[in-house]
Amino acid sequence: MAIFDELKSIAGTLREADKIPQYEQILGIQEKLLEMQNKISELDTENRALKEKLETKESLSYENNAYWIVKDDKKNGPFCSSCWDDNKKTIRMQPCGNPAFFDCPVCKNKSVQIDPNYRSMFIKRSPPSSR
Ligand SMILES: [Zn+2]
Repeated sequence: MAIFDELKSIAGTLREADKIPQYEQILGIQEKLLEMQNKISELDTENRALKEKLETKESLSYENNAYWIVKDDKKNGPFCSSCWDDNKKTIRMQPCGNPAFFDCPVCKNKSVQIDPNYRSMFIKRSPPSSR
């Protein structure tokens, strides 16, 4: 970073000129600048996570005790409604036995869904013949 290089150069000059109090002042400024840089990085990470959560919240659709993320007309899920409502965590529900039954691996919340991926399986099944 250019600022750090400039401060290092100034510090070097002050040290060579034997201006120790000013040299130490520059070292203190460098340290504070580094702390500020770390704080900015921390806030940037937090901000990105919050934006991601907001984007998720805006794309959630609630169906049969579960959430789906609807984006560009594509459905992704189901995600546990309890975990999202409580902790804002998108926990993918797992199929258990029957492909229409899902439960949350974290809180064991249950949902019955017709997953779009399984729908074709139901459609392909031929209806009982009416002889
Ligand atoms: Zn859950």
